[in-house]
Amino acid sequence: MENLKSKVIIITGASSGIGEATAKLLAQNGAKIVLAARREDRLQTIVSQIEKEGGEAIYKTTNVASSEDMQKLAQFALKQYGRIDVLVNNAGIMPVSQLNELQVQEWDQMIDVNIKGVLYGIAAVLPTMREQKSGHIINISSVAGYSVSPTSSVYSATKFAVRAISEGLRQEESPASNIRSTIISPGMTDTELTHSISSPDIKAMVSQMVKMAISPYSVARAIAYVINEPDDTGVNEIVIRPTVQP
Ligand code: NDP
Repeated sequence: MENLKSKVIIITGASSGIGEATAKLLAQNGAKIVLAARREDRLQTIVSQIEKEGGEAIYKTTNVASSEDMQKLAQFALKQYGRIDVLVNNAGIMPVSQLNELQVQEWDQMIDVNIKGVLYGIAAVLPTMREQKSGHIINISSVAGYSVSPTSSVYSATKFAVRAISEGLRQEESPASNIRSTIISPGMTDTELTHSISSPDIKAMVSQMVKMAISPYSVARAIAYVINEPDDTGVNEIVIRPTVQP
């Protein structure tokens, strides 16, 4: 993993699940990690674990739904390390429900975190990456970003949007500024994502599916692979799901 070494990598949603696994795996391979999420105790523990293993990591408590927080996160990374090589826009929530339940507040939250969070992340790092004439923005979509099922309309809409934004970013910035753009779309992965589902019935149904889930490290390895490819090689899209997931 030579091309990972010493890269400065910001990961949002790094306090659990895919973000935590990615932070640990990339740090093991010599990258300098800036972890971001809201739960400070989790971030502190993960940074200590990384340091104990000889890795390098810092954290900043961040709400990705706040443009100001995302700007501060990028400034923090720049101040500490002088550059930003990669942003992994990973933070996300999935309070799925049927549209007729009218969970308007949850729709707003999903749009704020899953779409605006990604856009605010891009806004926070793009000027620096353009100046550097290099950088890599990795956006976490989902298999729900390719198809819709009952209860997934709004969540799917946010993940379709993530793919649209990533592809637009690629078309605009890769030729002009040498900035790589990657969409990673996981299937069922064993994390805390289902905790945000408010309906007990839907939660029970989705929890059944978690039995087939892959480890968050499977997704982390895909993220490590796309970063480690030579800088002239853009891996634009990966779908990764349990072999047995339909
Ligand atoms: P987790 O719930 O384990 O992790 C979600 C992370 O997002 C947490 O670290 C959480 O931290 C963070 N987060 C949530 N809201 C905010 C916010 N407002 N500001 C900052 N951070 C926030 O789930 P996953 O690891 O599974 O989720 C990671 C990504 O993977 C998401 O985008 C999800 O949609 C996607 N995904 C997951 C799949 C799965 O099956 N698990 C399948 C397909 C896609 P904190 O609460 O501390 O802020």
